[in-house]
Amino acid sequence: MISLQTKLSDLSGIGPTRLKAFQKLGLQTVEDLIYHFPRYFENWGRPITISQLKSKGKGVIKVKVILVHQRKTFKKKMFLTEAIVSDNKDSLKVIWFNQPFLKKILENKEIYLAGKITSDPSYGLSLINPVWEKINPYPIHTTGLVPVYPLTSKLTQKQIRSFIWLIFKKNSYFKDWLPDEIKKEQNLIDFDWAIRQIHFPSSLDNFKKAKKRLEFDELFLLTLANRIVRQTLKNKNAPSITFNSELTNKFLKTLPFKLTPSQKKESWRIIKDIEKPHPMNRLLCGDVGSGKTIVAILSILNCLNNNYQAVYMAPTEILAFQFFERTKKMFKDFPFKIALMTKSNLYLNEKQFKTKKALIKNIKEDGVNLIIGTHSLIAGEDTLKIKNLGLVIIDEQHRFGVEQRAKLAKNEKKGLSPHFLSLSATPIPRSLALTLYGDLDISYLSDMPEGRKKVITKIFNEEEKKFAYKAIRERLEKKELAFIICPLIDPSGKVNSKSVKEEYAKIKKEFSNFKVEMLHGKVKSQEKIKIIQDFSQGKINILVTTNIIEAGIDIPKATIMLILSAERFGLSQLYQLRGRIGRSEKQAYCFLIYENVGEAKKRLEAFLRAKNGLELAKEDLILRGPGALFGYEQTGHLAKFSLIDFKNISSIENVKKVALKFSSKYDIKKFPELWKKIKNYISS
Ligand code: ADP
Ligand code: MG
Repeated sequence: MISLQTKLSDLSGIGPTRLKAFQKLGLQTVEDLIYHFPRYFENWGRPITISQLKSKGKGVIKVKVILVHQRKTFKKKMFLTEAIVSDNKDSLKVIWFNQPFLKKILENKEIYLAGKITSDPSYGLSLINPVWEKINPYPIHTTGLVPVYPLTSKLTQKQIRSFIWLIFKKNSYFKDWLPDEIKKEQNLIDFDWAIRQIHFPSSLDNFKKAKKRLEFDELFLLTLANRIVRQTLKNKNAPSITFNSELTNKFLKTLPFKLTPSQKKESWRIIKDIEKPHPMNRLLCGDVGSGKTIVAILSILNCLNNNYQAVYMAPTEILAFQFFERTKKMFKDFPFKIALMTKSNLYLNEKQFKTKKALIKNIKEDGVNLIIGTHSLIAGEDTLKIKNLGLVIIDEQHRFGVEQRAKLAKNEKKGLSPHFLSLSATPIPRSLALTLYGDLDISYLSDMPEGRKKVITKIFNEEEKKFAYKAIRERLEKKELAFIICPLIDPSGKVNSKSVKEEYAKIKKEFSNFKVEMLHGKVKSQEKIKIIQDFSQGKINILVTTNIIEAGIDIPKATIMLILSAERFGLSQLYQLRGRIGRSEKQAYCFLIYENVGEAKKRLEAFLRAKNGLELAKEDLILRGPGALFGYEQTGHLAKFSLIDFKNISSIENVKKVALKFSSKYDIKKFPELWKKIKNYISS
């Protein structure tokens, strides 16, 4: 018997390789997997005859494989499996590429085939690469509404469908946790039925009912969880951090710029907040490049000046290192001890350490004021006990879960909990943020630093690449720097996308009198940081890289960016990428080279039109559905809301009302199933 808590590794058929692929999607347990919702459905309908398929062009047929043989194509060195299938009346040619194992499996079998008819000149009228499935009473890959999931390259749609189906088969009933009273009042269907229908709906109507129920669940839990966190924090005490205006002003004078009006306003608000003896829980939102870091630094300065410690957590080692370098420079006139603690970089000011243990030992003896790190700060065996923690800053907050927050909050002395400030560039409309996070205090940076010029952005097709190259050369000759972004690291035989390794070779040839380097997720951490440093100092002129540089990197000398296979990126992702340039008063340029597949051109034109991240997020919602923005592209906090229709604020508000009414009417702990669910939610 399996339960929601069963580990995926305990399911038959999931070995180490598959387990890794599931983990890459953030899936560890049965519960995670059944909450991994489809991105969309392919509607194949009921089986039709071959002659109907020939006239309709698309559909599913129930056939017998009469003949199957395979060969290697001469020119392209591909495996070609050719079959003739029949439904007793008519026959049809079927072709699969590069699936050499198929011949054995399919010989003489009765199967379903779902696909599109093509009349390719070299193959004639045929079905090319259709999905196949052996005849069985409950086909899940080829008939009706077939789920299509967000995936990694190591898993196939068929595998993920089969595992979810297996879970549903093995577990006869998932107990409901939502109180009956609410289900009745809100006209919601049973959980067990909803979770099955969301994956394998028997009709569109049933899918809608399932979606309504699960969407309700998410908002209901979010509201109650937020409320509980909020109340617990209110009842806790925090160090009161007094504001030193003289010191702060003196510090501000050392900066090469003046604060924008909204930086001033929000810094002031935060400083006032951390003066209070209860923990602040605040989200600082601001478009990329709006200057959130300095706002955080001002609160850190005051925290340290009060002899409390501060922690800054970044989502990547590169960002942690960047912040370490920045704060060391900015605080050079102060006696602060600053530690960097990531997997491969361990420092206390200038002193480097080989092991985390050694660094922690040194900190114990010598003390530390500001601790900068990635999640390894709180992970693993030897974690640092921070005795006098006053403030925690979490940068790019959508990448962090609530768990980290809970763990760090445990470093309490004399019952004092630290203040929390999360920084986020996730474009989220204010009204929506207030509805979702109404229990959190929210700050917005609504203006950009002065003197910034709009990045000149152009879309080109492959043939027009030379214009982009010419522009890059001009910038490089002025000692400015260039990013070249590719969606892949290694060339892929399957998809037609540019890869760092291939482009690196090309760019090196094209720009032979400049220094070109590549950077991607597989480069060792130490090396990564060296490359970023060399690039920011102009020792490297062109960096060929992936979206690894998407979040937070700040290299003002980089003024030009070329994004290859731009159609492969989400609009919000493109926006984040482009945010890496145009960070000084110099004019910056961004060129997108794309292949016009599907809606690519339309989407990229929307990218050109958008004035800010928010507008683009809205476009993304319209063109790609909410999954693209709030769903799977981001992990962490917002990823859980994959079903919520963010355009429907009134429905969100309704659920919130229901949840608040319920929690003031009853003691939630009296509903054990619900209480368990909320506790899980808070700690995941
Ligand atoms: P983000 O909000 O994306 O985290 P950063 O805090 O990294 O942005 O700031 C982007 C760049 O703008 C940095 O180089 C920073 O030094 C600079 N900057 C921040 N505030 C101002 C300002 N008021 N005037 C000019 N430049 C600023
Ligand atoms: Mg930032």
